[in-house]
Amino acid sequence: MKDTALIVVDMLYDFIDGSMACLEADKAVANTLAYIKKETPSPILFIRDHHPANHCSFAAQGGPWPPHCVQGTHGADIHVDLAPYADDDLSFFKGEDPAKEQYSGFEGINPAGQSLQEVLLLMEIEKVIVCGIATEFCVRSTAEDLLKAGFKVSVLKDCIAYVEAEGHKKALEEMASEGIRLL
Ligand SMILES: [Zn+2]
Repeated sequence: MKDTALIVVDMLYDFIDGSMACLEADKAVANTLAYIKKETPSPILFIRDHHPANHCSFAAQGGPWPPHCVQGTHGADIHVDLAPYADDDLSFFKGEDPAKEQYSGFEGINPAGQSLQEVLLLMEIEKVIVCGIATEFCVRSTAEDLLKAGFKVSVLKDCIAYVEAEGHKKALEEMASEGIRLL
């Protein structure tokens, strides 16, 4: 029985080399690809920030961020090296409601309308390994929500990118103190 899933959060072009390019993003993508090839985790689930052009998190609407991951743009695409591993049913989109900020992949929905938790439970997954971008925001929220929901959660510390080094370090320490394993 499969019981461990890899969850790849927001490894999308705007967070890698686009409007919100994060530190160590190229390295995080390369290390994630190497991890997938070496460990062959199954299933692999992808979280995707996926905003309408008028989303509330964008500066023009008073939000904290520049426009990013707008639906239908290159910036919203999964990195080409990882895209072959993404299955539609195992891709969870978040931030689609213009009025709602969603950092956590836990709030994402796949094209069939199923939540991340629903799919993990259907697949009898108990342990999850999380990587992605950015440590301080979407990786952290996703990992913490999974932990709260009762999953055993690990984070691949060489497969994450971040907005700012201090925040990244602090987020890792806090996640570890909450019971999230750092691998
Ligand atoms: Zn966003």
